[in-house]
Amino acid sequence: MKRLAVTLVALCATAPLSAQTPINWDSLGAETQRVLTAYLRINTTNPPGNEIQTARFLAKVLADNGIEAQILDTTEIGAGRANLYARLKGNGSKKAIALVSHMDVVPVTPAFWSVDPFGGVVKDGFLYGRGALDMKGEGIAELMAMLAIKRSGVKLNRDIVFIGNADEELGGTGAETFVARHADLLKDVEFLITEGGVNPLDHGHFMYYGVGVAEKRTFWQRLTVHGTPSHGSRPTKQNPVPRLVAALDKLAHYETPLHVTPGVRKFLRDMAAGDTSRQAAWLRNIDSALTIPAARDWILSDVYFNAILRNTISETGLSGSSKTNVIPAEATADLDIRLLPDQDTAAFRAELVKVVNDTAVHWTTILPPKAPLESPIETDLFRAIERAAHDRDPRALITTPMLTGATDRPTYRALGIVTYGVDPFKVELTDIQRGVHGNDERVSLENLTFGPHFFYDILRYVQ
Ligand SMILES: [Zn+2]
Repeated sequence: MKRLAVTLVALCATAPLSAQTPINWDSLGAETQRVLTAYLRINTTNPPGNEIQTARFLAKVLADNGIEAQILDTTEIGAGRANLYARLKGNGSKKAIALVSHMDVVPVTPAFWSVDPFGGVVKDGFLYGRGALDMKGEGIAELMAMLAIKRSGVKLNRDIVFIGNADEELGGTGAETFVARHADLLKDVEFLITEGGVNPLDHGHFMYYGVGVAEKRTFWQRLTVHGTPSHGSRPTKQNPVPRLVAALDKLAHYETPLHVTPGVRKFLRDMAAGDTSRQAAWLRNIDSALTIPAARDWILSDVYFNAILRNTISETGLSGSSKTNVIPAEATADLDIRLLPDQDTAAFRAELVKVVNDTAVHWTTILPPKAPLESPIETDLFRAIERAAHDRDPRALITTPMLTGATDRPTYRALGIVTYGVDPFKVELTDIQRGVHGNDERVSLENLTFGPHFFYDILRYVQ
């Protein structure tokens, strides 16, 4: 596989490109740091969001660079909130590519931070701040790549669309409102890049370029059993709690079927590349390995592998009586269900209803499922990403891990747009674990040159 990849790079390198003015990447990196520092200092903690401020900031940077932006949906999303839209025009001979980011961030607990989370502090070669990774850093890498394309005069066959959304971290209303109200602005968009990719480093050792082509689909359910309230000193058959517990016990022992999607098959094969161990052989031949008990046990003992190979059910919220001596009128349990992208929601719920097999248990959907997200891999954009990655790391794997969490991507994918999660940065696993939605979120200064340059190359290669 590796030799084939190298051959492809050699072939691609002969394709003509038309960059007129070379970019000084060191000074562009310094400019990226200045812009991101100012952006991180705008507090868009959601709730309440306040993305109107970041939208104005981005519009100003774009205007200073000769690109007119629109601040949209200010009344629809709510007070102090907005989406941002801009477009760098090409010759229109091919369809557009959109660079999308969310402008809001999750709350912070300042006591756990070593610096001011909204101070834009530089320390030990890193720029600290809430959103440095998720995802103000990526938003600015997208912005600076687009500006670099404009400055260098790359001939554009595809327009480049830049979108900043409100409210990804809470309700997703920014992207939903944008898609609902401005489908006209997206109708010529073929490709879209946003969060959901990962290029991990493990103690400085670069692992792979992970392009997010798919994500699990949330399908949260609530189980309710009704009973007759009475005193706990006299047990009755009408207590809803044991009835609910029996249903939960059946679900806890139910093993959902295993199912390999195309992106996951590629990911597992890629992970095993160059490894001669028995386990690697299992990953390379995942479909047959899942029929071998020892292989199956080993693979499913990894919580991530398990989650990307099946629909999963986590029993989470639970409520019965608030008093020890009272049999309640009702008992409820919440199920965090995550479906593989190609699964049918109604069929899966019907299957679970059969497993529980108790008409006293009522099922309700807490959160309506978003559109399924699984984008094809055989595309010009995927090839452009591979080429830009191999420019930097000729032997690197470019693979397709599935995200078990949720992003705004399905909202755009529902329009038929090929939607990938691509990370502009190479990030230590410990920084992802500690910083994203945690404390001391930070991005290395090195990444602030690397990221815009990487995205710049993707944008010109996809033309
Ligand atoms: Zn995010």
